[in-house]
Amino acid sequence: MISGKSYDVIIVGSGPAGLSAAVSLKKAGIKNVLVVEREPVAGGTVRHCGHRSFGLLEFQRLLTGANYAKKIREEAKKYEVQVKTKVTVTQYLPAGEIGFISPEESGTVSAKRVLITTGLREATRSARLVSGQRPMGVMTTAAFQSMIYLEDKLPCRRPVIVGSEIVSFSALMTAKHFKMKPVAMVENNSKMTFLPWVFNKIVSLFFTPLYLNSKVVGITGDQRVESVVIEDKRGERTKLPCDGVIFTGEFVSHSTLVKTSHLEIDNNTTSPEVDQDGRCSDSSYYATGNVLMPFKTGGKCWRLGRKIGRIIADDLKR
Ligand SMILES: Cc1cc2nc3c(=O)[nH]c(=O)nc-3n(C[C@H](O)[C@H](O)[C@H](O)COP(=O)(O)OP(=O)(O)OC[C@H]3O[C@@H](n4cnc5c(N)ncnc54)[C@H](O)[C@@H]3O)c2cc1C
Repeated sequence: MISGKSYDVIIVGSGPAGLSAAVSLKKAGIKNVLVVEREPVAGGTVRHCGHRSFGLLEFQRLLTGANYAKKIREEAKKYEVQVKTKVTVTQYLPAGEIGFISPEESGTVSAKRVLITTGLREATRSARLVSGQRPMGVMTTAAFQSMIYLEDKLPCRRPVIVGSEIVSFSALMTAKHFKMKPVAMVENNSKMTFLPWVFNKIVSLFFTPLYLNSKVVGITGDQRVESVVIEDKRGERTKLPCDGVIFTGEFVSHSTLVKTSHLEIDNNTTSPEVDQDGRCSDSSYYATGNVLMPFKTGGKCWRLGRKIGRIIADDLKR
């Protein structure tokens, strides 16, 4: 039970930023720290990533996302951070009060300081206004990797990958690793978003056709995805038979709750408005990690968590 109690700090979100901040607060002598996480397991978005690209700077070894998440959970446990999973925060109220819901209870709980580390998400099909039927097999990279690595399911065999950001290559490599045959990578611009001079060639090495200057304008299929229609800058349309569509990147801050709260929002990035210390417009709230755009790596968010933990501890001691 968490309602009715009062905490020094409540951290919303248990990704690298949230758990790292919790440990930093504990190290600085702040005792009453609670991390709440809506998922059943703590660790954040990195939990869904099966590839080995995490931890080099902070733990001096290359870990898969799942092992990295385990490592930060273990560290939080070592410092006796209280982590409550399956708790979804539903409201940010003035002066450090938050609304929440969990399978056992719902209500409000207060803290002297609240740290928002809810991360970001990729733009979905509806946000990208792609028309057509609504078959199964349309997903973001996070959903694609979570089905594979957490649920042991292969959601498709011949996906079209939309986008060419760093995360798009993560989707491509996951697909290749599981012996899928990506039909195409589709990019709206005239060159790749991520390291074009290198990755234009790498995509060819993966034997995946690259469609630049093109966007997905339709998806067809009754039950499952059967094809996508792409349109180039001249308006010419091509139908690509496939059984899945992975929308990658175009990240937006996971800040819907902030938008509906009293906290100010940065209209350019849709992240919470913060000062140089990460403090929000209500001084009992702070934010860090990927909820503050732009996209950062897991390691960078972990380091930001450490830093803001020290700042909040100093603030509380003052
Ligand atoms: C598909 C994908 C692939 C990636 N691959 C890499 C990679 O290879 N290498 C790398 O360094 N980085 C990678 N990243 C980036 C990395 O995942 C992030 O940098 C890092 O996880 C951000 O940490 P965070 O703590 O800010 O947020 P997150 O890890 O996103 O954690 C936010 C947490 O907040 C929780 N939450 C959200 N809203 C609520 C709420 N209302 N109530 C309670 N809990 C809530 C979420 O469930 C989540 O667990 C990838 C990201 C994505 C999406």
